[in-house]
Amino acid sequence: MTTTTSRQSGIEVFEERSAAIIKQLEQSGQLKTLQMIEGPMDANVRVRGYGEVVCFCSNNYLGLANHPEVNAAGIEGIKKYGAGTASVRFIGGTFTPHETIEKTLAKFYGVEAAYTFTSCWNANEAIFPTLCEPGDLVISDELNHASIIDSIRLMTTIKKGVHKAVFKHSDLGVLRSVLEASRANPEVTGAIWVVTDGVFSMEGDIADLPGLRKLCDEFGALLVVDDSHGTGVMGKTGRGTHEHFGMKRSQIDFITGTLGKALGGAAGGYVAGPRNGIELLIQRGRPTLFSNALPVSVACSANKAIELLMQEPKAGRVVRLRENVAYARAEIKKAGFDVLESPTAICPIIVHDTARAIAMSKKLLELGVYVIGFGYPVVPEGHARLRVQISAAHAREHVDKLVSALKTLKKV
Ligand SMILES: *Cc1c(COP(=O)(O)O)cnc(C)c1O
Repeated sequence: MTTTTSRQSGIEVFEERSAAIIKQLEQSGQLKTLQMIEGPMDANVRVRGYGEVVCFCSNNYLGLANHPEVNAAGIEGIKKYGAGTASVRFIGGTFTPHETIEKTLAKFYGVEAAYTFTSCWNANEAIFPTLCEPGDLVISDELNHASIIDSIRLMTTIKKGVHKAVFKHSDLGVLRSVLEASRANPEVTGAIWVVTDGVFSMEGDIADLPGLRKLCDEFGALLVVDDSHGTGVMGKTGRGTHEHFGMKRSQIDFITGTLGKALGGAAGGYVAGPRNGIELLIQRGRPTLFSNALPVSVACSANKAIELLMQEPKAGRVVRLRENVAYARAEIKKAGFDVLESPTAICPIIVHDTARAIAMSKKLLELGVYVIGFGYPVVPEGHARLRVQISAAHAREHVDKLVSALKTLKKV
């Protein structure tokens, strides 16, 4: 006798399982809803169902996302080169605007070379699996961006014998002990890499780059900085977190960053550093070998954004951003809120409770102020916050609108 087991089909198993996960997200208040933006990203944006609201949740730090010259450069790019590259870089996807923006990036940072990817996520995913070899060790700050974490995981999966370690956020003492242990580890025979975000996206705090450099020098390690939130924001001329500390660029071995934040905000990322490192990424970086080039229109618009930043007299936009940040922090504090101290454009207002953060951000949107609340599990339990991001595009009245809405919330 044969027995037939009734087995659900694959799609049935999947439907049941995914519905349960989504329901669980909904019940625990973690289900995200996508707001629909109906016009350009600027100090004010048009949000479907809410009309014109002041935007405090974009990465448009320098207000270049909708700058007329940046827009025009992208349009010119399409006119001259068309909409698509239809190829990866090493086959037929390298157009002159790629060469131009990569030269501009190298000049901006004062490095030998730079290479673009379709995102900083991809740039980070390329760097460690490509550049590290067996016997190397990569040591990462525990609060580094998800793309760095995944890059390191991928690296240890595809290259056997590469080691990884994590150090407590910004804790140089713990990093020192990891470095000391690596000295005694006979399996660590190659290069040691220390990687950190320049500006940490949830806290808005910055890495102690001088301290990290000193430790790296002591132990002969390379220093890699992902300055996605620091580029265009930190330092006198917006070169990034190293400039904030008055460090020479050569004190950072590799910089990764995004074109999707201060530098025009479209999309794309890059690695900047020594020529051989860039050459290896071109030769062997899987996210560039097997995935299309940065769209040419974006190469053109982002290049214009970087040029505007470099050419601006007295770094006007960077200065305006810094003044806006100082004003916003002072006013938010005066209104009786607990805002984390830092020199960056990220001002987290700590409200502790996740449900409260989400309710506040909903209420703020109704009051015409667009701010996102982050709670557990994005940040530790009890540390829920409203993450306010300041832009050079804001005027005083935009910040005043935020503060007055916050005061209204205090009353209810
Ligand atoms: C935003 C961000 C990224 C991702 O950049 P994309 O270009 O949008 O992929 C990577 N690293 C850090 C530190 C970031 O803040």
